[in-house]
Amino acid sequence: MRIEEDIKLGFKDVLIRPKRSTLKSRSQVDLIRNFSFKYSLNTWSGIPIIAANMDTIGTFEMVKSLSNFNILTAVHKYYSLEDWINFINISSDKILDHVIVSIGTSDIDFIKLKKILSLSTKLKYICIDVANGYSEYFVSFLKLVRENFLDKIICAGNVVTGEMVEELILSGADIVKVGIGPGSVCTTRVKTGVGYPQLSAIIECADAAHGLGGQIISDGGCSVSGDLAKAFGGGADFIMLGGMLAGHNECLGQIIQIKSKKYMLFYGMSSESAMQRYVGGIAGYRASEGKTVKIPFRGSIENTIRDILGGLRSACTYVGASRLKELTKRTTFIRVSEQENCIFNHANY
Ligand code: 5GP
Repeated sequence: MRIEEDIKLGFKDVLIRPKRSTLKSRSQVDLIRNFSFKYSLNTWSGIPIIAANMDTIGTFEMVKSLSNFNILTAVHKYYSLEDWINFINISSDKILDHVIVSIGTSDIDFIKLKKILSLSTKLKYICIDVANGYSEYFVSFLKLVRENFLDKIICAGNVVTGEMVEELILSGADIVKVGIGPGSVCTTRVKTGVGYPQLSAIIECADAAHGLGGQIISDGGCSVSGDLAKAFGGGADFIMLGGMLAGHNECLGQIIQIKSKKYMLFYGMSSESAMQRYVGGIAGYRASEGKTVKIPFRGSIENTIRDILGGLRSACTYVGASRLKELTKRTTFIRVSEQENCIFNHANY
């Protein structure tokens, strides 16, 4: 047994120190980034935020709405090939440019991936997603996908430590997905005792990835737009969001009405709800590592996205970053023991 003594930080442990700035207005901030990749010769320009590949969030409806903002959606793996054919037939090139095709690591997933990607050359992103990216099998599956799709932008994860980021990049990933346990409907840390504070995971993993010419996605743990500013400030190239995008028209969630108020159900992909839906229940050898929550229904996603992007632009003006790309260079974190003033938290009307 070994104990690491240096402190690991989450979003709530820091704030970003303001810096002198020549920017007059947040409208001067450019959130678009232009990416090229380690393996894929594809390039991509857009706002590097990704709707999570959870079945309630990564829907075709989400792709349509978020592509208007130049934001990506990792489409969940439960759509059938017929669903994909219909979607591709009615989608513009611009919409398809904002799609990430998600898969697991079974033989059936691989065959389905091949079929989906053969439907349109406009699909450039693949996300190979497992809860635990530390297995040898996962690494060999990633190598297989890279050998078969030399030109695609491949994201793989999830991991939280630099040495595994390096292994995944050397095995064919352009982008590594980082996060174990921070998610809003995740109970992994409680059920297993395993995890890593997300901001430290970002800082350490970004350093490892960038050293090899790769990139990272910070996946999970953002609950307010300030957390996105901290994640980008810490070195994340992309940020994946689940809970912050939940409860909207574009989500696939059961709506329930209590008195005159509407709610939507949102659940983790390892929750009992998800396992009931897709595999007929929780297998005898495992525990659920996700929860189901009821959240107020919020209508269209547009206002939520505008609010997030406004917060990010404002963060950039506070540190004098005219482009999102400059935010990391201009970020100094200060460690804190308080965030917001909560005196009126229960007095909203
Ligand atoms: P959020 O933005 O809601 O904080 O985090 C979203 C991320 O949580 C997802 O992209 C995924 O990585 C993770 N996640 C989703 N469902 C589950 C689950 O049931 N268990 C765990 N451990 N993580 C989950």
